[in-house]
Amino acid sequence: MDKQNDQSRMDKIVSLAKRRGFIFQSSEIYGGLNGFWDYGPLGVALKRNLKDCWWQDMVSGHDELATPAGAPEPYEMAGLDCTIIMHPQVWKVSGHFDLFHDWLVDCRESKKRYRYDHLHGRFASHRNKRVFVVTDQSGDDALPHTLTRAQKFFGLRAKQIEEIQWEGGIEPLAAGIAAGTILTAETLAPDAAELGTLTDPREFNLMFETRIGALAGGDDDRAFLRPETAQGIFMNFKNVLDTSRVSVPFGIAQIGKSFRNEITPRNFTFRSREFEQMEIEFFCKPADSTAWYRYWRDRRWKWYLDLGLTAGKLQLREHHADELSHYSVGTADIEYAFPFLAEGEFGELEGIAHRGDFDLRSHSEGKLVRQDGQLVVEQGVDGKPRHRGSGKDLSYFDDVTRERYVPHVIEPSAGADRAVLAFLCDAYHEDEVPDEDGKPRSRTVLKLHPRLAPLKVAILPLVKKDGMPELAAELYRKLKPHMAAMYDEKGSVGRRYARQDEAGTPWCITVDGQSLTDRTVTLRDRDTLVQSRVAVDAVVDLLRDRLRTGVS
Ligand code: ATP
Repeated sequence: MDKQNDQSRMDKIVSLAKRRGFIFQSSEIYGGLNGFWDYGPLGVALKRNLKDCWWQDMVSGHDELATPAGAPEPYEMAGLDCTIIMHPQVWKVSGHFDLFHDWLVDCRESKKRYRYDHLHGRFASHRNKRVFVVTDQSGDDALPHTLTRAQKFFGLRAKQIEEIQWEGGIEPLAAGIAAGTILTAETLAPDAAELGTLTDPREFNLMFETRIGALAGGDDDRAFLRPETAQGIFMNFKNVLDTSRVSVPFGIAQIGKSFRNEITPRNFTFRSREFEQMEIEFFCKPADSTAWYRYWRDRRWKWYLDLGLTAGKLQLREHHADELSHYSVGTADIEYAFPFLAEGEFGELEGIAHRGDFDLRSHSEGKLVRQDGQLVVEQGVDGKPRHRGSGKDLSYFDDVTRERYVPHVIEPSAGADRAVLAFLCDAYHEDEVPDEDGKPRSRTVLKLHPRLAPLKVAILPLVKKDGMPELAAELYRKLKPHMAAMYDEKGSVGRRYARQDEAGTPWCITVDGQSLTDRTVTLRDRDTLVQSRVAVDAVVDLLRDRLRTGVS
């Protein structure tokens, strides 16, 4: 599919999401708030199902006695739910206070703000004027954007476009400025008419700040909304260890909101300022950590496939050594080819990082930095730790081997909103189905995995009379305690099927004239469109079984 089709596909998905009540812009009646999204009736069910699948597959359904395929040995899992606002020292020691920032530049003319690393461009000359045309577009969109910007700047008509002379290809603005090959005065900002309107880049911390207490004002009252859920798990490592009889290797899982004051939220919910994460910190023996890293990387990859994401659109990407954080021994990203990205580009769904003993040691000793290949406590100008740790012993004593060590950590960190978006994009299909008269009718269908589908089944009486509504209601009440079921008697059956297809409902049950005589109903499958007759009393078991095995 070419890029343009992909963009129109994305537009259709966004419009379906709004029209059917999956996702709305936050505070829409006041014009909306950039980077914030609300989940409507179908969206909240989809997102909850996704989080439930994750919790069930990673935590509550985990068999602690078995060795899962690829794992070095059996392991335990525990859950946690901790606060969004934590002691400010947490973020100083974790590195978020010092390091969690982006560089941004403002345009004095258009008042727009850009992430410095998102700006690229190329030199264009016409007659005696030479400018560096800056674009904030990425991938395939960047070149055409610079072309139209240059045409407008030089005041040319479309047929004069060939008169522009270009030097080289698209290059990052930041690198050219740093090397002195691009001067700010010769840059044409993405939304400006004049040259040289971009400010120098400024650092911008991505953490939202707040104040604690009624008399807030001093520096001691400053607090932050968490930018990740992971740190709460490290805060409770010892609590969980001391209270729940777990022993290494074990993992602690948490699902919760995180906040990042992203400079340029974009691409629907992909880059939001408030979002949910599903994170695991897995604590293991240092010698086994590489094997555990591989296990979690492969396990998490398989999870997306098992829930139906198209394999060809998923990518597992190991980071190169120069991309790794200073503490990380290995990191892999699970990425999806979202329709809003250029051909060949992928967006991150989840990162799986081998974090060594960085976090537990930092929170014990003080913020660590790498020096000569070693992690050491960073010193301030006074020679004291720059950010003090808790001083608490966060090591682990192995009763069997009688060894004491600081466990190594493997962190699979996923975003619930990005996963919902990937599943929505992947599920979106347009095809043709025969209508009641056998004529082809185009339909929009969300082919969501039954576990994820907001509604599992819709019960439709063919007509609103002759006892059909009563039998349909009986069946609805039988199904409701077991799965999300809906009763719908409004409109023609064809239109009711269409509504359910758009909502991603895997099964529709129709109660017709024959149902009243032999107590059988028609079960329609969303994807295959196969219709089969099933006894009313067999429906609950049949659908429960299909839901459990994931067969639609
Ligand atoms: P990116 O590079 O895309 O900003 P990241 O590497 O900073 O992401 P992590 O810090 O590894 O992301 O966070 C783990 C997961 O949390 C990501 O894989 C993603 O699914 C989710 N996530 C991070 N930032 C956002 C955001 N602004 N909006 C929605 N989800 C996010």
